[in-house]
Amino acid sequence: MSGRPEQLFPLFAGLETLSGIGPRTARLLARGGIEAPRDLLFSLPYSVVDRRRRETIRGADLPCTLTVEVTVGAHRPPRSRGGAWRVQVEDSQAAFQLVFFHARADYLSRLLPVGARRVVSGKVELFDGMAQMVHPDHVVPVEEAASIPEFEPVYHLTQGVGQKLMYRAVQGALARLPDLEEWIDPALLASRRWPGWAEALRRAHAPRGADDLAPSAPERERLAYDEFFAHQLTLALARARERKARGIQSIGTGRLQRKVLESLPWRLTGAQQRAMEEIAADMAAPERMNRLLQGDVGSGKTLVAFMALLVAVEAGGQGVMMAPTEILARQHLQALQPLAERAGVVLEILTGRDKGAERKAKLAALKAGDIHILVGTHAVFQDDVAFRDLRLAIVDEQHRFGVRQRKELAEKGVAADVLVMTATPIPRSLALARYGDMDVSVLDEKPPGRKPVKTAIVSSARLDEVVEHLRCAVAEGRQCYWVCPLVEESETRDLTAAEERFRHLRAALGEGVVGLVHGQMPPDERDAAMTAFQSGRMQVLVATTVIEVGVDVPNASIMVIERAEIFGLAQLHQLRGRVGRGQADSTCLLLYHPPLSESGRRRLEVLRETEDGFRIAEVDLEMRGAGDLIGTAQSGLPKFRIADLERQAGLMATAQTDARALLAADPSLSGERGRAARVLLWLMRQDEAIGLISVG
Ligand code: ADP
Ligand code: MG
Repeated sequence: MSGRPEQLFPLFAGLETLSGIGPRTARLLARGGIEAPRDLLFSLPYSVVDRRRRETIRGADLPCTLTVEVTVGAHRPPRSRGGAWRVQVEDSQAAFQLVFFHARADYLSRLLPVGARRVVSGKVELFDGMAQMVHPDHVVPVEEAASIPEFEPVYHLTQGVGQKLMYRAVQGALARLPDLEEWIDPALLASRRWPGWAEALRRAHAPRGADDLAPSAPERERLAYDEFFAHQLTLALARARERKARGIQSIGTGRLQRKVLESLPWRLTGAQQRAMEEIAADMAAPERMNRLLQGDVGSGKTLVAFMALLVAVEAGGQGVMMAPTEILARQHLQALQPLAERAGVVLEILTGRDKGAERKAKLAALKAGDIHILVGTHAVFQDDVAFRDLRLAIVDEQHRFGVRQRKELAEKGVAADVLVMTATPIPRSLALARYGDMDVSVLDEKPPGRKPVKTAIVSSARLDEVVEHLRCAVAEGRQCYWVCPLVEESETRDLTAAEERFRHLRAALGEGVVGLVHGQMPPDERDAAMTAFQSGRMQVLVATTVIEVGVDVPNASIMVIERAEIFGLAQLHQLRGRVGRGQADSTCLLLYHPPLSESGRRRLEVLRETEDGFRIAEVDLEMRGAGDLIGTAQSGLPKFRIADLERQAGLMATAQTDARALLAADPSLSGERGRAARVLLWLMRQDEAIGLISVG
């Protein structure tokens, strides 16, 4: 099947092919993303109006929408321009008025001839003690009363398209529903009591009350599942293709790993051990690894990464680890260099700062295989960087990298295994949606002996007190991060705020004690400041969010975050994770600028209540929604029209399992269910995925 299946043609035809839809309406709908009858089908109503006929408006709890049969009485044209045109009407028990603004007289007299019987439907309210219906939604002769649906679905509209038109368009699309073979696993379908696809759409567009609008209504749930399933099938196809592409088998000997582990003063956590084993097994397998290592801040990802790099070296190859910033790349170098030395492994760094002869020499050594492990920024995948035998590519703090870079890096080493690390815990549903093509290892355990960080929410009105406390802490030899926010995304204003705070704290605490780092600083100055802080010479580090990810200074035990209310939850969690790494009790002060909004307070309170990054991520997702959480633009997240990623994580998990199972059983999707699943992919516009289906 190379093209779109014929059964789907009517659903992908132009909108004008629906009766009652002209080119103008089609254009308007297209603006709202509705380009074909198919899109109408997946635009489900968000509400429903009960338009069941009743005898009279008497006794109704006004205001509310009512449908009654009336006799038309006198018309009262407006007394002044722009005034209301009133039409007296009477149902079997009560009199009221229909009210129109800006209506033409001839239109109204045709619509509502005096003495005629009409069925009217609309919102009735009291005005000056008189019941009135302003601009009825429906006015029809009694013989046509059936054209008013008893339950009228209410749709999101694009400008210029009214409910009636939308309803008619949707009905037109529904009339074209083809009978498609079922793509959902029959056992699943039965256990969930889901209707078939066409039936589900018909029902979803004909809700009879709030229950039918709930995501848990069987027909809606089924349609949501279809979206998830198509998405997961696409990811599973991508995964299958990557796995089919030959990888390299890197079988570690354990020799170098042992040397390093024996030299450490502590033991691996159970989670670290497990992740290491999962990674080693992937690397030893002939398929290319594509794995995500998810760990909360401070869970010890770096060591796991290093162990994986050692597997590559033990197997006779090389590894590379890429960090999102220069600072982090340097820190990796610092942290790993002593371990590498103990293992007799050559570790080097490559960043944008490497230039000229030095860079050339590094590249030559890399190509000759004299450098075993390379850490660096994205400079490690510039075109002229070549390895002798690249086995493993690690991308650290993935959320700052696009999916594209991930691919580029993998392409460097012809078939290198890829490990992506993220320090931002992602709720399960998001991880499934975004990394569904990957296998996932989770570090859900922190090294023992970590002390909880005491978190307090403090108004900036008490800044002087905070500084006073800080003075005492500094006298005791403690170290502190002081984070200034990014103001309105403007680097300059951002900087001004940080510089101002820097001067203020220097004046209050003493010249040599306080340092400043920010993104615009010349790199060597920034390094100097970081080094001074790391060595303990400098005790207070004022910073913009450049310190956000990964910095490790165990002696730092105080974190002050100014204007915490404008940071994202994940970011705050990351920042707080910079402290609580050493022996001392740690404190995190979340300073806010009053007044604090309700949601602002709730967010900060979550941080005060828990240090569990996964828990915080769930709350974040709940409060902000998926797109916002990771930034829709680069998120690589699909837009689901019906499914709700936040609230239907379980469904997504089922879809992943099912998609992988279907593909394992029928890799070319040529069996009965497989062919139905192909139709689903076309239906869901996953055309790209169809190209991934293996032939034969
Ligand atoms: P993250 O997951 O945030 O990248 P790191 O890898 O930076 O965490 O580790 C945080 C700190 O914990 C480092 O100082 C590291 O040396 C230490 N660490 C890592 N694993 C263990 C362990 N099993 N026991 C004790 N400390 C550990
Ligand atoms: Mg880290």
